[in-house]
Amino acid sequence: MRWFRFAVTALAAAAAPAAALAQTPAMPSSAPIILHADRIVDGHGHVIKGGSIVVSGDKISRVDNSGGAAATYDLEGMTLLPGLIDAHSHLSWYFNRQGRLHQRGDGDTPVESMLSMAGNAYATLMAGVTTIQSPGDPADKDLRDWIALGQIPGPRVLTSLNPFSSTRPTPDSLRALVRQRKEQGADVIKIFASASIREGGAQTLSDEQLAAICGEANALGMRTMVHAHSVQSIKASVAAGCKQIEHGVFADDETLKLMADRGVYFDPQVCLVFRNYLDNRPKYEGIGNYNELGFSSMEKAIPIATAMFKRAIHTPGLKVIFGTDAVAGAHGRNVEELVCRVQAGGQSPMDAITSATSLTAESMRLGDQIGTIAPGMQADIIAVEGDPTTDITALRRVLFVMKGGKVYKNVR
Ligand SMILES: [Zn+2]
Repeated sequence: MRWFRFAVTALAAAAAPAAALAQTPAMPSSAPIILHADRIVDGHGHVIKGGSIVVSGDKISRVDNSGGAAATYDLEGMTLLPGLIDAHSHLSWYFNRQGRLHQRGDGDTPVESMLSMAGNAYATLMAGVTTIQSPGDPADKDLRDWIALGQIPGPRVLTSLNPFSSTRPTPDSLRALVRQRKEQGADVIKIFASASIREGGAQTLSDEQLAAICGEANALGMRTMVHAHSVQSIKASVAAGCKQIEHGVFADDETLKLMADRGVYFDPQVCLVFRNYLDNRPKYEGIGNYNELGFSSMEKAIPIATAMFKRAIHTPGLKVIFGTDAVAGAHGRNVEELVCRVQAGGQSPMDAITSATSLTAESMRLGDQIGTIAPGMQADIIAVEGDPTTDITALRRVLFVMKGGKVYKNVR
């Protein structure tokens, strides 16, 4: 909801729920746009053959299978689907002038860093991802608001701002920090409950600290997303009332079932994040835990994460959403994670698409506004060459991108 904050503040008015996703201030009404393609995938596992979508302003006004004669954009040979949604992308990560991971104090100015973020946002949007969630960076706020104002092209951005990772604060001060983060404009609270996979992934924050953070967030109506790899850290997070688990490389069957039973969203990764680090090793090597042990841990994690993912998608009732953990080098390649989920993880292409559209929208509590092709929804629509329900690699060929009724890409 927060991307409307700036405009709302400027108008000194309360945001009406219907206007919450507006990406630009009130636009003059214009003629409807009609999109026609070989098929429409609606984000819920359904296909409309030879369908048309009518867009009025920033919303979808009609979906049917009428002919394409009146189409504004006749996307022959293509498939229309909801803009993809990535629950975990770090737009502030980039490679600096030296071709190394940007670090504070490396000589880059704040403006250069923000320009890199804007570039990552653009690459992400052009790849068909129309909404991302960043967990998180204080600079996300300005990027989120400027994209929402229509000043620069990019996906809708939700952010946690600074995440919670320090084990030092008392439960009382953690609760105060959650309230502060909300005041600062965070859309979600991001928590590190375990160490990095490069350091073994064991629980870091105590059960009491997790209960304080997620308990306070729940009381405020805020969502929580928790970085957790070990069984113990996942179980502690679920017990603390946290709503979403990231990564979970070491999750066992009992832990997967626990998440399903509690309605906790699960966002595992199969390949992109690991492969991206390994492929770009010289650009990360020697910084923090990007060392010999860290890289070998990530290499070893790939088969473990893949096996865990296979068990996760076969756990009844478990809501497996889509998040790439995109860092420097991965922006714009988000769909590679979906390709791996299908090719290595055994997920059906349709389930992969549903996870990256309606299900991830639901995890963000935006399921009534994005992630679905239906009347009344935001007009976040992409078109890919071919049929992604039979060939997931079609998602690599995004030739048309619309967000909030505005066309950002059309390269047929
Ligand atoms: Zn991350």
